[in-house]
Amino acid sequence: MQDDVFRQPRTVEERERGLTDHGGDLVELYTQKPRVGRRTAIEEAKAAVPTVDLADRLCGPGQLRRIGERWVARCPLPDHDEKTPSFVVYPGDRGFWCYGCQRGGDVVDLAQAAWDLDRADVAAAEVLMTFGHEIPARPTAWFNRQQRQRPMRDKVAEVRTEVLMRRLFRFVFEPMIAAHEDPDERAEMAADLWRDVLPLAARLVEDRRSAG
Ligand SMILES: [Zn+2]
Repeated sequence: MQDDVFRQPRTVEERERGLTDHGGDLVELYTQKPRVGRRTAIEEAKAAVPTVDLADRLCGPGQLRRIGERWVARCPLPDHDEKTPSFVVYPGDRGFWCYGCQRGGDVVDLAQAAWDLDRADVAAAEVLMTFGHEIPARPTAWFNRQQRQRPMRDKVAEVRTEVLMRRLFRFVFEPMIAAHEDPDERAEMAADLWRDVLPLAARLVEDRRSAG
């Protein structure tokens, strides 16, 4: 695997291009894409992605085994390295439980634990992204408020956005890219996806701020 395939913008010029392609207007960037529905990212993730689907992805191909109605595997969560499977996903999307490390919950809880994310809404957004779903929109009033408060927030937001972009890229997109065998294809995909990360990262930064 070549390092430069996964290279993220490092020079000032590259970085600025990445962050200012949209004029640095992160709020406008969101509003360009009309979205429907008022469900939160957390509700949306729980409705759209079965726990077993995320578990399957985290555990790796063929690792989840069906035993009766349950799915069982070696625990995919960090800090739990086990030889005997004690990670169980229950049918009817009643969530997961690991009898080894005593962690459990729904699909969003699983994402939080697996990706070490403090916030459920960020984990939910990553789940939605990972499985190709839209992240629910914010109401118009929220955008208007953001617009008024923009000048003093932009700089901080840009820095946070970039940090988050790198994080998202590492957790969500690199595994997808790695699945391609052709180096040229990987490089192209990496470049495309890196651009796609911006709107998501910007959105999550705004989410974090509005909640904090
Ligand atoms: Zn465990």
